[in-house]
Amino acid sequence: MTPKAAIPYTKGLHQLTDHCHAWLVPDGTWGWSNAGLVTGSGESLLVDTLFDVALTREMLDGMSSLTRDQPIRTVVNSHSNGDHWYGNELLAGCEIIASRATAEEMATAGPDLIRGLLGQDGATGEFARHIFKPFDFTNIQPTVATRTFEDELTLNVGGTEVQVINLGPAHTEGDSVVFVPSERVLYTGDLLFIGGTPISWAGPISNWVAACDRMIVLEPEFVVPGHGPVVETAGILQMRDYLTWVQDEATKRHNKGMSPEEAMRDINLGRFAELDERGRIAQNILAVYYELDPTLERVDTLEVFRRIADLEGFSD
Ligand SMILES: [Zn+2]
Repeated sequence: MTPKAAIPYTKGLHQLTDHCHAWLVPDGTWGWSNAGLVTGSGESLLVDTLFDVALTREMLDGMSSLTRDQPIRTVVNSHSNGDHWYGNELLAGCEIIASRATAEEMATAGPDLIRGLLGQDGATGEFARHIFKPFDFTNIQPTVATRTFEDELTLNVGGTEVQVINLGPAHTEGDSVVFVPSERVLYTGDLLFIGGTPISWAGPISNWVAACDRMIVLEPEFVVPGHGPVVETAGILQMRDYLTWVQDEATKRHNKGMSPEEAMRDINLGRFAELDERGRIAQNILAVYYELDPTLERVDTLEVFRRIADLEGFSD
């Protein structure tokens, strides 16, 4: 076994195996996402673009020594959050693949969503401007999927087999992972956060736990998370532990009759207090409550951001 943990968490391109690379972008907090490159004979496949055009251009330049002879022909967008596809316009000539659920969600998850948050008054806007300040959303041309699939797709990238598997809904409505069997490399998109708190926008969290189990069964040697450093499967287990913990803690409080906001203030983060973006628990509790009570009225994104901001010390 090769020493997987030896992949340093530094910005830029990291070779994992003969055909697999990771583009890592520390520190992995809001918007600082990773991407992947799978090479084959005469062509490559890119797993995700980044949050804005300049960041994506920098990444593509950083990959040019590989893509000069093995140009990117295919892009897979793991899910609909902008930090995984707002740079797509630079790859407009490629086949852009997403699950059908992701492609549908992309239609309402364009940069206007972020601009709306940035323009809010009070603590919500202050928080949004704090976390999104490093990125440029002014001139993004939303470039969406040109090919969709339902559950699974197997691709041949110049002789390298690539499996795209939609394990959502969990983090979002569609959450695809990209697995390269010959290399035992798994690119997880945001089904895995390392060092940060996962956030279940779509849920159910029980399906996210099942997705963790599906990822572990693939027995990858290198796991590239959507955010954070490259890990082994132990990293998936750690995040699974957070998900089952939040499920248990929220369920207990739901059964006591507490509202999601009361539960959010009552839960002690304990062993998870060190994770970044602790405020995301506000949405994770909602995801558990929605699963327990499908009739519960959905809280809109603005209000969720207000609650997260509040937990992270931004309040009106
Ligand atoms: Zn992300």
